[in-house]
Amino acid sequence: METIRSQRAGAPVIIGGGLAGLMTALRLAPQPVILLAKTPLAEGAASAWAQGGVAAAVGDGDDPALHAADTLAAGDGLSDPAVAARIAAAAPAAVAELQRYGVMFDRDAQGRFALGLEAAHGRRRIVHVAGDGTGAAIMRALVAAVRATPSITVVEGLEARRLLIDDRGIAGVLAAGPWSACLLPSRQVVLATGGLGGLYAHTTNPLGAIGQGVALAARAGAALTDMEFVQFHPTALAVGLDPMPLVSEAVRGEGAVLVDETGERFMAGKGRAELEPRDVVSRAVAAHVAAGHRVFLDARGSLGADFATHFPSIAARCRAAGIDPAIQPIPVRPAVHYHMGGIAVDAEGRSTVEGLWACGEAASTGLHGANRLASNSLLEAVVAAGFVADSIAGVASGPLAAPRPVALPPAPDAGALRAFVSETLDVVRDRAGLDAAIARLQLLAFRGGDAADPALVALLIATAALAREESRGGHWRADFPHPSPAWARRLVQRVDDTGTRVICRAVPLPNASQPLASGA
Ligand SMILES: Cc1cc2nc3c(=O)[nH]c(=O)nc-3n(C[C@H](O)[C@H](O)[C@H](O)COP(=O)(O)OP(=O)(O)OC[C@H]3O[C@@H](n4cnc5c(N)ncnc54)[C@H](O)[C@@H]3O)c2cc1C
Repeated sequence: METIRSQRAGAPVIIGGGLAGLMTALRLAPQPVILLAKTPLAEGAASAWAQGGVAAAVGDGDDPALHAADTLAAGDGLSDPAVAARIAAAAPAAVAELQRYGVMFDRDAQGRFALGLEAAHGRRRIVHVAGDGTGAAIMRALVAAVRATPSITVVEGLEARRLLIDDRGIAGVLAAGPWSACLLPSRQVVLATGGLGGLYAHTTNPLGAIGQGVALAARAGAALTDMEFVQFHPTALAVGLDPMPLVSEAVRGEGAVLVDETGERFMAGKGRAELEPRDVVSRAVAAHVAAGHRVFLDARGSLGADFATHFPSIAARCRAAGIDPAIQPIPVRPAVHYHMGGIAVDAEGRSTVEGLWACGEAASTGLHGANRLASNSLLEAVVAAGFVADSIAGVASGPLAAPRPVALPPAPDAGALRAFVSETLDVVRDRAGLDAAIARLQLLAFRGGDAADPALVALLIATAALAREESRGGHWRADFPHPSPAWARRLVQRVDDTGTRVICRAVPLPNASQPLASGA
């Protein structure tokens, strides 16, 4: 196995070529860094697929405090108010920073931002590019910036398989591709590996998004938090594709309604109807499907012939599947879209392992709580990357260690688990399903093989979901269908010191002083 020992040896290693990884590398420039991505930059990154945009209080009459308040409401009591306030306050500057990299957000006739409205936002506050091409445009600009930055060494086509640990904390990364493996010695590693939708049979995520950062961190002894909170998007295009193309919330923001095959608008009269938070709409759609109906998003009356002007990418995907959204309802179903939980990090993006930081979807900063507010994740990726870069820039890297030999695990493969994970860790969960999930995943997670890391990530979700005996945000238990004040707690997990078991405990929210819920 090759050990990379160039003049960059010892430089921080950033794992992940999505928005969070690219921004961390750019923010650290001119400090040398190694940016490791298992796919060519931007490919295989959810960031490039983002449609709706970036949430920021940049409109007339809007205010970061209102943005933070909407974030907390969506988070259903588990978001950290200080984190929400800090990130919402940083949002206008994040938009300005993206503009400096050349991202041209859409403007109205007066030259102001053309702001989109998305579910559970009290204001139009979503900046976007070319209607629904926001992620692709941001990634084009940032990939170009990264490639033009001499301090960033880009290593594409190698995936991080293990973090190396010694008594000082992180000692490096073991990475491998189809034909080679290497050790990257470093005292500073950033996990920016994205989400975990690829563990499920129905997802809008790139199929390679299988929570590898969570598995790497967990096997290195780091704490994970909020793992039970998986966000389902209610309107993935249901035409048999894997992954499922997304039909953005912004389409509902522009007035499209959910109907069934009889034309009944089954969300009518329920709160804000189609603009209720994603978990509410997802459960309503899932229940309607379970009752034997087919569900469609109908934009004929609201957008009609203008659909393709507002949403050119979505229109193209629909047309490729033989559907013209101007004149036909779009078949949809819920699919896993986003993971609120992940590697537990502090305000600087530090994990509980010395030398290990995390940002983007792989991390759990406390912003999203039980449910993410639409378009807050690109925002969080940009802002939290800055926190991480500031933190790394502020500490001296420790002396490098001679890397100890470690066994190279096989490339992880979630394929054999996806149907089972979807069945047991779905929009609605119950004890019987969770018990079955834990029994099977426990066997797979700690015995090696290509399913081990995906099984560990799913096991962390299942264990937290079983412990949380209530329904809140993205976590819904048929056997505990109400939120419980006693569960205004965060679950923190880690793999125990024997490396064979997941430990799960409930901790109070920041500044809370209630006794812990029992049984967790
Ligand atoms: C279809 C879709 C639409 C969305 N729309 C929006 C939106 O409009 N607004 C919004 O705010 N959010 C949106 N989201 C969510 C948002 O895109 C993601 O949460 C965000 O982009 C995550 O960024 P990231 O950098 O953390 O991860 P990603 O962009 O997913 O990047 C992860 C990177 O890590 C790499 N990687 C993973 N594991 C390894 C490994 N072991 N070794 C090396 N490399 C590895 C991957 O190859 C990839 O390069 C959307 C998501 C999807 C799927």
